[in-house]
Order: sequence, then structure tokens, then C-alpha cells
Amino acid sequence: AAKSTGKGDYAWFEFAMEEKADRQRILREELSTALEKNQLYLNYQPIVCTRTRKIICFEALLRWEHPTRGLISPDEFIPVAESSGLIEPIGRWVLQQACAEATKWPNTIRVAVNLSPRQFTGFGLAADVMRALEQSRLSPHRLELEITESIFLTDTQENVRILNQLKHLGIHIALDDFGTGYSSLAYLRCFSFNKLKIDRSFISDMSSTPENLAIVRAVIGLGKSFGAVVTAEGVETEDEMACVTQEGCDQAQGYLLGRPMTAHAVGDMLVSLPTNRSFGGA
Ligand code: C2E
Ligand code: MG
Ligand code: MG
Ligand code: MG
Repeated sequence: AAKSTGKGDYAWFEFAMEEKADRQRILREELSTALEKNQLYLNYQPIVCTRTRKIICFEALLRWEHPTRGLISPDEFIPVAESSGLIEPIGRWVLQQACAEATKWPNTIRVAVNLSPRQFTGFGLAADVMRALEQSRLSPHRLELEITESIFLTDTQENVRILNQLKHLGIHIALDDFGTGYSSLAYLRCFSFNKLKIDRSFISDMSSTPENLAIVRAVIGLGKSFGAVVTAEGVETEDEMACVTQEGCDQAQGYLLGRPMTAHAVGDMLVSLPTNRSFGGA
């Protein structure tokens, strides 16, 4: 019953915890063979110029199609990959796959790859990135790497060194989910980002929530003064699109502009559009 207290609740709580730990253990075991069983694949979501709606970039988003459990969200399995060390081989695969796919697109379009902080703790991130570029023959200028502020929590100096190394190759470095998590403006002094991505929690209801609008304005101002491109994440309505454009966001990403889609669908879309034609709303 809803009102029960004491032992019963505790047992239930323990059970729930056990279930979560169990699920994590199972996911970890199954994830370790997911790559070789071809259960992982990438989706690509367009990022467009706010003024012209031309596609500037596609963000690679990892998917796990489990044979019996169905599609598992990266928000659930990335943490499992991180805690088990599997993020290293998976992250390497994502880089190779995304770079190879991008060589099929017009050379005005970049590919953005998400990096987990755990990929910075090994030794080989810069080498992995360079290998992916060499093997695919993708120009470094067409690769963008998305990181979150959490990489500044430990080994700040070493991580900044790696970021600078990558940036000097011509790769763009974007700060993802800006404004959430461990946000501290101090991190912006550590490294000069090419791009700030405003987290979608600030974009929703922007025009009716003065606090969100104020934060979006402040981030755009901050980004501009650092010489960074500013992208709005999670744009779902024409209203939000008009608002972020009006406020001076350079780029936008969200269901309004395009959902994450398969590599195949990207190919179809790109050939169906005359080169550089603008890509309209939903
Ligand atoms: P993220 O990098 O911030 O990616 C954007 C997320 O927002 C994606 O979720 C995308 O599908 C979703 N999204 C885009 N537009 C909209 C919108 O208009 N409305 C709503 N509600 N959502 C939108 P997804 O694909 O589930 O990925 C979740 C997170 O998982 C990513 O957040 C990223 O942190 C992580 N992730 C995905 N792929 C990789 C990867 O290859 N490596 C690593 N390390 N992390 C990844
Ligand atoms: Mg991202
Ligand atoms: Mg994001
Ligand atoms: Mg995110």
C-alpha cells in the first residue's frame, strides 16, 4: 500500500537498487559484444545556419539496436560504456565511422562527433583522431569534436593540451550542453572554443520564459565576445527558430530542422537537394 513504511519500503528500495545494478551489469556484458555483432550504428542530425537554413554540419549520434531489448538510448548505455572502459573502443569506432561517412557528403558540410571525458584519460585520443582522419582521408577542417565541461574537472592542463593539439590540426572544438552540468564560466578561460552549443533546456519556451531568454542572450553575447560560433540545441518550433535567429544565434539544431537519421537517409537527402540548397522546416 502507498502508506506503508519501514522494513517493507526498505526492502523494495533495495530491490530497485539491485535491479538497476543488475541491468547495468547485463548491459555491460552485452555492450562488450555489441560492436562485433554490428548492433551499434550512427544517426546523423543536421545543424543549419539560422539565416539561410543551409546545412553546415551533421552531428553523429550513437544508437544501440539490441536484438531483444530494442533500441537503447545513449543516455543509458554511454555511462555503462564509460564505467567499463568500453567507451575507448566504441569511441574509436564512432570516430572512424563518422569520418568515413562524411567523405561522401559535399565538402562544405562538417561532421560533429561527441567525445566522452573518459576518452581523454587514456593516452591515445589525439592519435585515434588522426588515424580516423588519415584512414578516411577526411580533411581535419571537416571534423568537429563536441565535449562537455566535465573534461575540465580533472587533469585540466593535460586535457587543454590535447584540445589545443587537435585544434591546431584544424579540427573545430565545440562545448556541448552549455549552461548545464558543471558549468562554470571559468572554463571558458582555459580554452578558446570554436563553438558554444546552448543546451536545449534553455531554448524551450524561450519566448514565454524571460529567464530562459535572458540566459540565451547572455550566452550569445559571451560566445560572440570570445569569437565563438553559437548554436541553439533542441529547436522544435518555428517560434523558437525565429527567436534564436532574432537573438543572433549563428546555427540551430533540433527536430524542427531535422531528426537524427540514418546514414542512408542523409545520402538520399543530400542528393535530392541541389548542392547548397537551403533545407527548410519540418
Ligand atoms: P547531445 O550531444 O547533447 O546530443 C543531442 C541530443 O538531443 C540527442 O539525443 C538528440 O537526438 C537530441 N535532440 C536533438 N534535437 C532535439 C529536439 O528538438 N528535441 C529533443 N527533445 N531532443 C533533441 P540522443 O541521440 O539521445 O543522445 C543523447 C546524448 O548521448 C548526447 O547528447 C550525447 O551526450 C550522448 N551521445 C550520443 N552519441 C554519442 C557518442 O557517439 N559518443 C559519446 N561519448 N556520447 C554520445
Ligand atoms: Mg553533442
Ligand atoms: Mg548537446
Ligand atoms: Mg546532451
